[in-house]
Amino acid sequence: MDFSLSEEHKILKDMAYKFAKQELGPLASQCDLEECYQREAVQKAAELGMVGAWVPEEYGGAGVGCLGNSLIVEQLSRVDMGGCLNITAAAFGCEAIWLYGSEEQKQEYLPAVCSGRKISAGAFTEPDAGTDVAGYKTRAVLDGDHWVINGNKMFITNGTVCDFFVVQCITQPEAKRHGRFSQIIVPADAPGVTRNKIKGKMGIRASDTAALAFEDVRVPKGNLVGEEGRGFYQLMHFFDTTRPMVGAQALGLSQACLEASLRYAKERSAFGQPLGSFQLIQQKLTEMAIRIEALRGLVYRAAWLIDAGQPDFTLAAMAKYFGGQTAVFCANAAVEVHGGYGYIHEYEVQRYYRDAKILELYEGTKEAEVVTVAGVLLRG
Ligand SMILES: Cc1cc2nc3c(=O)[nH]c(=O)nc-3n(C[C@H](O)[C@H](O)[C@H](O)COP(=O)(O)OP(=O)(O)OC[C@H]3O[C@@H](n4cnc5c(N)ncnc54)[C@H](O)[C@@H]3O)c2cc1C
Repeated sequence: MDFSLSEEHKILKDMAYKFAKQELGPLASQCDLEECYQREAVQKAAELGMVGAWVPEEYGGAGVGCLGNSLIVEQLSRVDMGGCLNITAAAFGCEAIWLYGSEEQKQEYLPAVCSGRKISAGAFTEPDAGTDVAGYKTRAVLDGDHWVINGNKMFITNGTVCDFFVVQCITQPEAKRHGRFSQIIVPADAPGVTRNKIKGKMGIRASDTAALAFEDVRVPKGNLVGEEGRGFYQLMHFFDTTRPMVGAQALGLSQACLEASLRYAKERSAFGQPLGSFQLIQQKLTEMAIRIEALRGLVYRAAWLIDAGQPDFTLAAMAKYFGGQTAVFCANAAVEVHGGYGYIHEYEVQRYYRDAKILELYEGTKEAEVVTVAGVLLRG
């Protein structure tokens, strides 16, 4: 068993961190404050092969696999989680196309996204149903050679900045609960699409989030991704590969919390000695470090298994669950190490604290991950 990263992986990791320090770091605080999306940074990242880096080279990606992509995500999040999401979620809609799309769809969309020419989005959640994936109501009806789509989507990352969505729709209402859904590509500028930016998020404020409405939106029949009636299962499989990436976001953010806390514990003194000399502070630092190491093992292994062609959805759910928990723990501890200064804008740990919470919410809440893991454990 060899736990070391290859030379290629080490280079990738260093490149991503350097890019994040140069391009994301200087704007992170301002973009957090002003909720501004950095399109330019996404373009630059694409030019370095970091958008859809997991996409194979034949479709315009860097072909670094899931483990390579997780290293990129980790390093970008270590500097700015909002900026990281802009870059990595640009390819969020591509996962379904890669897994289930036709050759023509792959040729059309994957190179366009990896090169930064197009931004994608995955539109699944609805105003009345998030965790209850089978409770979505958006409807697509065939009319000749076109699907006609009606419905609403909620909390869609990149919703107002993307060029196309992969939309979860009911196409077979008469089928059994899970067999009713299909996934359909919808251009963002199609007549009948309305998108409204959701402002006032607690964290990842540089990331674009939108509410969408589809009113008699017509798209060609050929925009169906995969098989009709398989959309629910396609979405579940999609989460198996994207959840370890949320774990990687958590890993980077947690690492940033530890690094900021270590710096502060050495610089700041109380009672005539550095904060780091107090055992209660040492305990916080040590707890952070242990959890981060454990998370790193989970995330890398879940990603490595995907690359090895043996995706493990339980491990993916564990990486996502433990990632959220670790990030929330580390961000809380980092604010505590900083005392009152941790509560004001000048110190980045307050941003980490606000950013961390989303990791327990999106791509499956922590409760949803528990349900997934417990189900497997109990089936034995
Ligand atoms: C910033 C942001 C970005 C997002 N980006 C995207 C995106 O790009 N695309 C997309 O499709 N969605 C996106 N989402 C949506 C996100 O995935 C959902 O918010 C999430 O899945 C939870 O759904 P919900 O908000 O409807 O909560 P609900 O499903 O209403 O859940 C509310 C609470 O009830 C709990 N709960 C629900 N069912 C159960 C159960 N069976 N057992 C135990 N507890 C349960 C939940 O865990 C949660 O605590 C995003 C959300 C946010 C906030």
